[in-house]
Amino acid sequence: MELYALRWPQVQALPRTTPVVFPIAALEQHGHHMPLFTDSLLLAEVMRRVQQTLHGRCLFAPLQWLGNSHHHLDFPGTLSASPRVYLDTLIDLAECFLRHGFTRIAFVNGHGGNSVPMQQATYELRQKLRDRRDVLLVSATYWGLGGQPWQTEPDLQQREMGHACEWETSMMLRIRPELVADSAATGDVPFGVGFSPAYRAWTMPDRSEPGHIGDPRAATAEKGEALFRVFAADVVSHLERVIAWDGKAWDA
Ligand SMILES: [Zn+2]
Repeated sequence: MELYALRWPQVQALPRTTPVVFPIAALEQHGHHMPLFTDSLLLAEVMRRVQQTLHGRCLFAPLQWLGNSHHHLDFPGTLSASPRVYLDTLIDLAECFLRHGFTRIAFVNGHGGNSVPMQQATYELRQKLRDRRDVLLVSATYWGLGGQPWQTEPDLQQREMGHACEWETSMMLRIRPELVADSAATGDVPFGVGFSPAYRAWTMPDRSEPGHIGDPRAATAEKGEALFRVFAADVVSHLERVIAWDGKAWDA
């Protein structure tokens, strides 16, 4: 089910254990060769595939394109909700459906900067609702669910998500090639280690002058298809666990 198309009595009629899925993404710079709406377009494609499999078993909210992208604000065109505003926005979205009596809320994320706020949002909500045993609040980023796309596509060079990188550029070449400028004109911007394994707070100019991280020159549409297949299958498995949760056990 897609929320945008339903009338309120149809929502009212749904079992309250139906998972409510919020896809969350961003509108932010993606280097010289990729469009600002990259994260939203890519997550929308992942979710399009997911919905084909799970249609009728989850309630899918429209993709929330405004994300927490303050670390990209040195690059014109980027739109961002500041971290605390974004955190409260996610809490509000979830609370609307909790108020309607729904008990399973799942954020599916397509932008790195949203990861901490979405976890914090579900954490704060859980503390508020600490006596509720029937409530499940989960969040996941689509490339962080354990899939190893290089197993099926050995030509992939990267082993983790970068930014406007081989992976993202490949996926965009698969769905909207006309929006990709000449990636051959880009170069390799190494991921670097920073203060790893500690976390160093960063802005994009700390890491990359052109705005991408990784090597977009390695991107192909074929790699993009392989990535979409793995990521969509991962999100389906994740949401199937949310559907199958028995309301009690920690492990679904
Ligand atoms: Zn991105």
